[in-house]
Amino acid sequence: MSQQDQMHRYLFENHAVRGELVNVSQTWREITAGHDYPQPVQQILGELLVATSLLTATLKFDGDITVQLQGDGPLNLAVINGNNQQEMRGVARVQGEIADGSSLKQLVGNGYLIITISPKEGERYQGVVGLEGDTLAACLEDYFMRSEQLPTRLFIHTGEADGQPGAGGVLLQVLPAQDSQMDDFSHLATLTETLKTEELLGLPATEVLWRLYHQEEVTVYDPQPVCFKCTCSRERCADVLSTLPQHEVDEILAEDGNIDMHCDYCGSHYVFDAVDIAAIRSGSAAADQQVH
Ligand SMILES: [Zn+2]
Repeated sequence: MSQQDQMHRYLFENHAVRGELVNVSQTWREITAGHDYPQPVQQILGELLVATSLLTATLKFDGDITVQLQGDGPLNLAVINGNNQQEMRGVARVQGEIADGSSLKQLVGNGYLIITISPKEGERYQGVVGLEGDTLAACLEDYFMRSEQLPTRLFIHTGEADGQPGAGGVLLQVLPAQDSQMDDFSHLATLTETLKTEELLGLPATEVLWRLYHQEEVTVYDPQPVCFKCTCSRERCADVLSTLPQHEVDEILAEDGNIDMHCDYCGSHYVFDAVDIAAIRSGSAAADQQVH
């Protein structure tokens, strides 16, 4: 059974607290398919995916968010990028032995969590937090306290759904300018902590929300689909090629006969031969070139 992944937003009518509940199981499987990542790396990509989906759902403008782990450990880089259409992609780079059951710190070593928010219009914002928390959720809660000064809780769950890897999570956040609500917020967080992974991954969202908050007055908004989608394209590759020094491009053409650009995120190949390169240089771009 492969259900479509969904993001549900909700609001506690009497508490000035909002929530998001997401299942990203299918998207996670698509992002990691064909990569052969060690289990702990697959796991951390799942957690990053849940986090990125929850974070992009807090955006109040068109844009995208990249959540990235970077350090000197065997996991050199893990990154998930998502936009407010909930289109997600991600990749990890491993540079050493990774033991089963490695913790976040063992994977990343001395490292950082980097959150980059890129609005379609306006300035890019980057937040960096040291990996002081034991979990990704704890590091992100720390980030929210520093950057937005909004009490926020993240609950990230990974496990199995119908015998396949599954991931999902919940975000709770106090609405801006509602700082007198801390007792209510703690109470709602305590309720949310009781959520079991198998409930989140196995039950419809409305059922999960009812189990958690049936004594509360909750407005649940229409769900938004979450999916795997890479933003790479032949046009973007052509743009990159046009910024490279001509002699370097010519050298590769002379040696290999063509230029093969590979997308780390989705595995797509974009192949440019001498005719394509000439067309790019003559300014006709790659828009009318066929994708190989
Ligand atoms: Zn791609």
